[in-house]
Amino acid sequence: MTDQPDAQDETPLRVAVIGSGPAGVYAADALTRQRRVPVRVDIVDRLPTPYGLVRYGVAPDHTKIKGVARTLRRVLEHPHVRFVGGVEFGTDLTRADLSRSHHAVVYATGASVDRRMGVPGEDLPGSVAATDFVNWYCGHPDNQWEDFGLDAEEVAVVGAGNVALDVVRVLAKTADELRHTDIPQTVLEALAASRVRTIHLLARRGPLQAKFTAPELRDLLELPGVDVVVRAEQVDIDLTEIGTRSPELREVSRAARTNLRLLRELAERATEGRPRRVELRFWTRPEEILGTDRVNGLRVEHTRLDPQGRLEGTGEHEVLDVGMVLRSVGYVGVPLEGVPFDSGARTVPHEAGRVLDAHGRPVPGDYVAGWIKRGATGVIGTNKSDAAGTVRALLEDAPLLRASVPDPVALERVLDDRGLRHSDYEGWLRIDTAEAGHAADLDRGERVKFRDWDAYRRILGQD
Ligand code: NAP
Repeated sequence: MTDQPDAQDETPLRVAVIGSGPAGVYAADALTRQRRVPVRVDIVDRLPTPYGLVRYGVAPDHTKIKGVARTLRRVLEHPHVRFVGGVEFGTDLTRADLSRSHHAVVYATGASVDRRMGVPGEDLPGSVAATDFVNWYCGHPDNQWEDFGLDAEEVAVVGAGNVALDVVRVLAKTADELRHTDIPQTVLEALAASRVRTIHLLARRGPLQAKFTAPELRDLLELPGVDVVVRAEQVDIDLTEIGTRSPELREVSRAARTNLRLLRELAERATEGRPRRVELRFWTRPEEILGTDRVNGLRVEHTRLDPQGRLEGTGEHEVLDVGMVLRSVGYVGVPLEGVPFDSGARTVPHEAGRVLDAHGRPVPGDYVAGWIKRGATGVIGTNKSDAAGTVRALLEDAPLLRASVPDPVALERVLDDRGLRHSDYEGWLRIDTAEAGHAADLDRGERVKFRDWDAYRRILGQD
C-alpha cells in the first residue's frame, strides 16, 4: 500500500473489509471516492484471488457480466486500498485482532451455502447442490468434485431462479460452445464427455412467479443444439383478469409479463430432434429423491395456488427417470465468528448497514454489506448502492470510531506471528497472467482458470 499524504491533516480512518466480492469492493470504492474523511482500506479475502462471485459465481459464458471485474480492478489498484489474500476471517484472523489494527470492519462475505429442499434422499450421491456444481465449473479451488454423474442421460434441476438457468445452460451447451470461456480444462473435458441429453427444470410455482429474468431465459432460447420444451397449457394465462379473484394474477410485474411472452414463444416452437432437450415444468415440486446407492429417480407432486395464493399439492404425483438432481433453490449466509447472526434469515442483523447485537443495539465499529446483509437477491449492480448505504453510516460514525487508536502495522504483525502464507494484489496479478498464458497454451479464449490450491501456491511461490 502506498501511503500518500492526505489533503486533510487527519489520521486516516482504517477500515477492514472482509470479502473481496462485489459488495466488499464496492464498499472500498465508496470509502475511497469520498474526500471528507481520509481512509485506508484493507480488503481481506480467504482466497488469493479477488472478486468473489464475479469470478466464482457468474457463469463462464456470461462474459459481459464478468467484465465488471475490470471496474472492480480499478478499486483494488487505488493507492489507499490494499488486497490481503489467503486470510480467513474467524480462523486466521479474529475480530479482536482487527480491533487492534482498524477503526471499523465491514463484513461482505456473501451467501456461500446452498439452501436445502428438505426432501428424503437429498444426501444420496447424484443429489447435488447448485453451489457445488457452480463452484466446480467456475474452478473454485475448494471444490474437490471430479464427477457429478454426468453419465446420466436425464437430470433434474430444481428451482426457477437465474442460477438454475445458468446450471441448465452449462449442462445443455456443447463443450465447443464453452471452449472460449475461462472454464478449467478438466471441467471442459468432463462436460465434453457428458451423456446428459434431457434436463428437466422444475419450478414449484407458475410462469408468473418464476424468479429468473428475461435475458437469462433468452440465452436458453438461442441455443442452437437444444430443443426447449414449454407446455402450451402452462403458459395459456389470460392476463386481462389481473387484479381479479385469481391468486395467480393478483400481482404480475412487467418482468413476469416479459417472461410469459418468451415462454409462449417457446411453447409455440416445434421440437426439432436437437441433440439436447430442456423441459421447463412449472407447478412441479420435488417430493422424494429415489435410489439406494445413488439417485435413480425423482418423485414429484404437481402443485397449484390456493385461494390465498399459498402453494399446495394437487395430489397428482409423477416419477422422473433422472440420474442426477441439482437443487438450485437459493443461497444462504453462514455465521461469522464473533458477529451477530439471524439464524432464521441467515443474514447479519443490521440497521442501515450498522451491525446490531441481540438487543438491537449497534455494535461499535461493525458494518455489513451485500448478500450477508440483505440475503441472496438482486444483481451485481445492486451491491453498489447497498455498499454505498453502509459506507454512509460508517462515515457518519467516523468521529466516534476515531476514539480508538489502532496500530497501522498490527495486521501484518498478527499474520507474520502466526506464520500465515498470505498474498497481495501483486500475487493476484501473477495468477491472472498465468491464467492468460494457460489459455494461450491451450489455444482457448482470454483466460483459463486453474482449479486447485496447488496451482495457486506454485504461482505465488508458496509451495
Ligand atoms: P432465487 O432467485 O431466489 O431462486 C430460487 C428458486 O428456488 C425460486 O424459484 C424458488 O421458488 C425455488 N425454491 C426455493 N425453495 C424451494 C424448494 N424447497 N423446492 C423447490 N423450489 C424451491 O435464487 P438463485 O437462482 O440462487 O439466485 C440468487 C440471486 O442471484 C438472485 O437475485 C439472482 O437473480 C441472482 N443471479 C443473477 C444472475 C444474472 O443476473 N445473470 C445469475 C445468477 C444469479 P419460490 O419462488 O417458489 O420460492
